[in-house]
Amino acid sequence: MSETTDTIFSKIIRREIPVDVLYEDDLALAFKDVNPQAPVHILVIPKKPIVKLADAESQDQALLGHLLLTAQRVAAEAGLNNGYRVVINNGADGGQSVYHLHLHILGGRQMDWPPG
Ligand code: AMP
Repeated sequence: MSETTDTIFSKIIRREIPVDVLYEDDLALAFKDVNPQAPVHILVIPKKPIVKLADAESQDQALLGHLLLTAQRVAAEAGLNNGYRVVINNGADGGQSVYHLHLHILGGRQMDWPPG
Protein backbone atom coordinates (compact mmCIF):
# COMPACT_ATOMS: atom_id res chain seq x y z
CA MET A 1 0.00 0.00 0.00
CA SER A 2 1.29 3.45 -0.82
CA GLU A 3 2.41 5.92 1.82
CA THR A 4 -0.08 8.76 1.46
CA THR A 5 -0.97 11.20 4.22
CA ASP A 6 -4.74 10.99 3.60
CA THR A 7 -5.65 7.49 4.69
CA ILE A 8 -8.75 5.77 5.96
CA PHE A 9 -7.72 6.97 9.43
CA SER A 10 -7.81 10.60 8.26
CA LYS A 11 -11.38 9.94 7.14
CA ILE A 12 -12.14 8.40 10.55
CA ILE A 13 -10.73 11.50 12.30
CA ARG A 14 -12.96 13.66 10.08
CA ARG A 15 -15.90 11.36 10.89
CA GLU A 16 -16.37 10.52 7.22
CA ILE A 17 -16.23 6.83 8.17
CA PRO A 18 -18.07 5.64 11.28
CA VAL A 19 -16.16 3.83 14.02
CA ASP A 20 -16.85 2.89 17.61
CA VAL A 21 -14.92 5.67 19.39
CA LEU A 22 -13.69 4.85 22.90
CA TYR A 23 -11.64 7.96 23.66
CA GLU A 24 -10.88 11.28 22.01
CA ASP A 25 -8.99 14.42 22.88
CA ASP A 26 -7.23 17.17 20.94
CA LEU A 27 -4.29 14.94 20.06
CA ALA A 28 -5.53 11.38 19.84
CA LEU A 29 -8.42 9.11 18.98
CA ALA A 30 -9.05 5.53 20.15
CA PHE A 31 -11.55 3.26 18.46
CA LYS A 32 -12.37 -0.42 17.99
CA ASP A 33 -10.55 -2.24 15.21
CA VAL A 34 -13.02 -3.31 12.51
CA ASN A 35 -11.27 -6.69 12.14
CA PRO A 36 -10.43 -7.69 15.72
CA GLN A 37 -7.58 -10.13 16.29
CA ALA A 38 -8.44 -10.61 19.97
CA PRO A 39 -11.56 -10.22 22.15
CA VAL A 40 -10.41 -6.63 22.73
CA HIS A 41 -8.69 -4.90 19.81
CA ILE A 42 -8.44 -1.13 19.99
CA LEU A 43 -6.47 1.30 17.83
CA VAL A 44 -4.97 4.51 19.19
CA ILE A 45 -3.99 7.08 16.58
CA PRO A 46 -2.60 10.59 16.66
CA LYS A 47 -4.72 13.21 14.91
CA LYS A 48 -1.49 14.44 13.37
CA PRO A 49 -0.98 12.30 10.24
CA ILE A 50 2.40 10.77 11.05
CA VAL A 51 2.85 8.14 8.34
CA LYS A 52 4.71 5.59 10.44
CA LEU A 53 6.83 5.34 13.57
CA ALA A 54 10.01 5.69 11.52
CA ASP A 55 8.80 9.12 10.37
CA ALA A 56 8.19 10.51 13.86
CA GLU A 57 10.53 13.37 14.79
CA SER A 58 11.96 14.73 18.01
CA GLN A 59 9.19 17.35 18.04
CA ASP A 60 6.72 14.44 18.31
CA GLN A 61 8.22 13.24 21.60
CA ALA A 62 5.36 14.44 23.79
CA LEU A 63 2.76 13.20 21.31
CA LEU A 64 4.30 9.70 21.28
CA GLY A 65 4.21 9.64 25.06
CA HIS A 66 0.61 10.79 24.99
CA LEU A 67 -0.31 7.91 22.68
CA LEU A 68 1.17 5.39 25.14
CA LEU A 69 -0.65 6.96 28.07
CA THR A 70 -3.84 6.94 25.99
CA ALA A 71 -3.27 3.24 25.33
CA GLN A 72 -2.83 2.66 29.08
CA ARG A 73 -6.05 4.55 29.74
CA VAL A 74 -8.27 2.82 27.20
CA ALA A 75 -6.86 -0.60 28.14
CA ALA A 76 -7.81 0.03 31.76
CA GLU A 77 -11.24 1.28 30.73
CA ALA A 78 -11.68 -1.87 28.63
CA GLY A 79 -11.05 -3.93 31.76
CA LEU A 80 -7.78 -5.50 30.63
CA ASN A 81 -6.60 -5.95 34.21
CA ASN A 82 -4.74 -9.19 33.46
CA GLY A 83 -2.52 -7.62 30.81
CA TYR A 84 -2.53 -6.74 27.16
CA ARG A 85 -0.20 -6.22 24.23
CA VAL A 86 0.61 -2.93 22.49
CA VAL A 87 1.86 -3.25 18.92
CA ILE A 88 3.11 -0.78 16.32
CA ASN A 89 3.54 -2.23 12.85
CA ASN A 90 6.10 -0.12 10.98
CA GLY A 91 6.44 -0.27 7.21
CA ALA A 92 6.21 -3.17 4.81
CA ASP A 93 8.20 -5.75 6.75
CA GLY A 94 6.40 -4.71 9.93
CA GLY A 95 3.08 -5.60 8.32
CA GLN A 96 1.73 -2.04 8.30
CA SER A 97 -1.32 -1.72 6.06
CA VAL A 98 -2.62 1.75 6.99
CA TYR A 99 0.01 4.46 6.63
CA HIS A 100 -1.06 6.62 9.53
CA LEU A 101 0.76 5.80 12.78
CA HIS A 102 -1.33 3.67 15.13
CA LEU A 103 -0.97 1.58 18.26
CA HIS A 104 -2.82 -1.72 18.48
CA ILE A 105 -4.07 -2.69 21.94
CA LEU A 106 -4.81 -6.41 22.01
CA GLY A 107 -6.23 -8.21 25.00
CA GLY A 108 -8.78 -10.56 26.45
CA ARG A 109 -6.79 -13.69 25.60
CA GLN A 110 -3.28 -15.06 26.14
CA MET A 111 -0.90 -13.61 23.54
CA ASP A 112 1.67 -15.80 21.83
CA TRP A 113 5.36 -15.03 21.33
CA PRO A 114 7.01 -14.70 18.89
CA PRO A 115 4.34 -13.00 16.77
CA GLY A 116 3.82 -14.19 13.20
P1 AMP B 1 -1.84 -2.26 10.41
O1 AMP B 1 -1.92 -3.54 9.63
O2 AMP B 1 -0.91 -2.31 11.59
O3 AMP B 1 -1.58 -1.08 9.50
O4 AMP B 1 -3.27 -2.06 11.08
C1 AMP B 1 -4.33 -1.43 10.44
C2 AMP B 1 -5.57 -1.82 11.21
O5 AMP B 1 -6.61 -0.95 10.86
C3 AMP B 1 -6.05 -3.25 10.95
O6 AMP B 1 -6.07 -3.98 12.16
C4 AMP B 1 -7.45 -3.03 10.39
O7 AMP B 1 -8.36 -4.01 10.80
C5 AMP B 1 -7.80 -1.65 10.93
N1 AMP B 1 -8.79 -0.94 10.15
C6 AMP B 1 -8.79 -0.70 8.83
N2 AMP B 1 -9.87 0.00 8.47
C7 AMP B 1 -10.57 0.22 9.61
C8 AMP B 1 -11.81 0.88 9.90
N3 AMP B 1 -12.55 1.47 8.94
N4 AMP B 1 -12.23 0.91 11.17
C9 AMP B 1 -11.51 0.32 12.15
N5 AMP B 1 -10.34 -0.32 11.94
C10 AMP B 1 -9.89 -0.38 10.68
